[in-house]
Amino acid sequence: MSRKAVFPLPPNRTIGIVGGGQLGRMTALAAARLGYRCHILTPEPESPAGQVAAAVTLGAYEDPTALAEFAAAVDVVTFEFENVSAAGLDLLAALKPVRPAPAVLRTSQDRIAEKSFLNGAGVPTAPWRAVESRAGLDRAAAAVGLPGVLKTTRLGYDGKGQRLIACAGELDEAFADLAPKPLVLEGFVDFACEISVIAARGEDGKAVAFDVVENRHRHHILDLTLAPAPIAEETEAKARAIALRVAEALDLVGLIAVEMFVTREGKVLVNELAPRPHNSGHWTIDACPASQFELFVRAVAGLKLPPATRHSDAVMKNLVGPAEMALWPEILAAPGLIPHLYGKEEARPGRKMGHVTRLFPLGGLPGPFGIAAALGPLAERAAGLEEAVEAPDRLAHAI
Ligand code: AMP
Repeated sequence: MSRKAVFPLPPNRTIGIVGGGQLGRMTALAAARLGYRCHILTPEPESPAGQVAAAVTLGAYEDPTALAEFAAAVDVVTFEFENVSAAGLDLLAALKPVRPAPAVLRTSQDRIAEKSFLNGAGVPTAPWRAVESRAGLDRAAAAVGLPGVLKTTRLGYDGKGQRLIACAGELDEAFADLAPKPLVLEGFVDFACEISVIAARGEDGKAVAFDVVENRHRHHILDLTLAPAPIAEETEAKARAIALRVAEALDLVGLIAVEMFVTREGKVLVNELAPRPHNSGHWTIDACPASQFELFVRAVAGLKLPPATRHSDAVMKNLVGPAEMALWPEILAAPGLIPHLYGKEEARPGRKMGHVTRLFPLGGLPGPFGIAAALGPLAERAAGLEEAVEAPDRLAHAI
């Protein structure tokens, strides 16, 4: 079999990507620059990734025929989407090298497996307990304390499948809302800010990490990323070390986003892992010599990783739903805004349609008012910034 001989993948070989979304699209664009073809597996006829890829297999992620046809057409398989069934993963892994390894995906697909792995690797998280029944929720609440956040263990994203529980009176309703799915209760973290680090690790075990960024959400959807995060140097060092430790402990070959909370006491707690490119790394396309997508492709293809340095500071603002898409003509006309659209036909509320990046000289990321001004037509849509302007203790973190 060609299984061992394939790496480093020579130019013109084919990377198979499971998932047809914008992460696959931007990965395919980066892969094309390195001379690779991408082949997408997606059930969607008009997918963002399919539009820019060399080939597409249209099929369900659980369909053995589609999976086998897809695997036969590619040299290596990767994912831009994590919710592939275990059986699907095993089928792919039996046919072609899969990077990251299926075990990494299994860990990140399930919040309990993920938190157990993290704590086992000495990485701190919010306190948590698995919840198997209504009585189990009472025990979990007693153990982690309230307020807490009850989450489904699988298939949650952008705040879906989770309920904030402020007091014991809300336990019944939250449980009724999310059960019978497997659940986990986490202690509520009164965070000063949310940050993330994207790390890549090659087949030689060498890992690199981009600078720590701050993420501001609106309605649970990422709104703004500030690169670098305006946090203390010590916090930045802790976050970076955690991301590299996670990549190492997973024996990752690929890319991983580690989402973290910074508590008001300066502790860094991991919230979630995503072993693929991440929305909070889109700024790297414009602000780094090699973006998260290039590092991802290089790791999957078995190439050496360049340093994850940035040449500019940056702010990334997502374009979500019809209200922000309506500003597209103004965005195109605004000096300094770098536009990215994902090729989605319909701008439904809450749907990520694209993003813009604004660059600043290295070390020149302005404060909230400066950022808002630099976003031009999007200034008033940057809800994360209004929050920052109103919350003096968040600003205390600014250097
Ligand atoms: P998740 O789906 O776990 O990424 O959560 C989505 C968002 O909900 C996070 O980015 C936080 O803003 C918030 N959140 C999730 N878990 C907690 C927690 N334990 N404490 C406080 N906020 C949380």
